[in-house]
Amino acid sequence: MTFCLAFLLTTLYNCFMSKEAIIKRRRLGIMGGTFDPIHYGHLVAAEGARYEFNLEKVIFVPAGRPPHKPNYKITDPWQRFAMTSLAVQSNPFFEVLPLEVERPGPSYAIDTVQEIALLHPGMQVYFITGADAVSEILTWKNTEQLLTICHFIAATRPGYRMDDMWKKLKLLPVELKDNIHCMEVPALAISSSDIRQRLREGRPIKYLLPELVEEYITKNKIYRY
Ligand code: ATP
Ligand code: MG
Repeated sequence: MTFCLAFLLTTLYNCFMSKEAIIKRRRLGIMGGTFDPIHYGHLVAAEGARYEFNLEKVIFVPAGRPPHKPNYKITDPWQRFAMTSLAVQSNPFFEVLPLEVERPGPSYAIDTVQEIALLHPGMQVYFITGADAVSEILTWKNTEQLLTICHFIAATRPGYRMDDMWKKLKLLPVELKDNIHCMEVPALAISSSDIRQRLREGRPIKYLLPELVEEYITKNKIYRY
């Protein structure tokens, strides 16, 4: 009798635990960036993270006014938002939100993560970046708070070494470092700066970014300096 009761209780407990585990496993990704313009490097990283980390969806958030890129004339935020929307439209797990485009002042990841977390109560947020961007997070606003409320996925990127990234983050407390996960993605040596330079020099950008984005750039005469 006691054995039966214990068995029943254990089974009930296990059922409860596994339900809780399922709830805990609900995850969503945020892909932040200037996306000036968005290219296949961004898309491959986001799709890799979605699959590897079991993310229900990935929300792309084009930066409104990125505080770390004051040195060049950034394309109009709504045009970057439009290009991002065109780029993700063929993936049912991807969406785009204009949170940072609409928010006045500099765009800080902490504000975006907090806003998205509020819109998705109970979900674990994963912030997807390239290894180059994660290396810089100590310069971001409220880094420790950010790493407490969300996890980071650092995608490999040609030209950036993971061990250099960890060296730059050595001052972070270990428990926060545990929230940074490395992810191998197919190496694409594509960058928005290279695409902008190619356009300046009249070189091709075909196959570096989705065709719809290329068409938008041509039609709206963006990056013609
Ligand atoms: P720029 O050359 O203007 O800095 P970018 O190509 O680095 O542009 P961003 O908008 O700065 O693009 O990047 C947004 C995020 O995407 C960053 O976290 C960056 O590390 C990541 N990322 C960009 N390109 C790649 C790539 N080819 N492979 C992996 N991650 C990438
Ligand atoms: Mg960059």
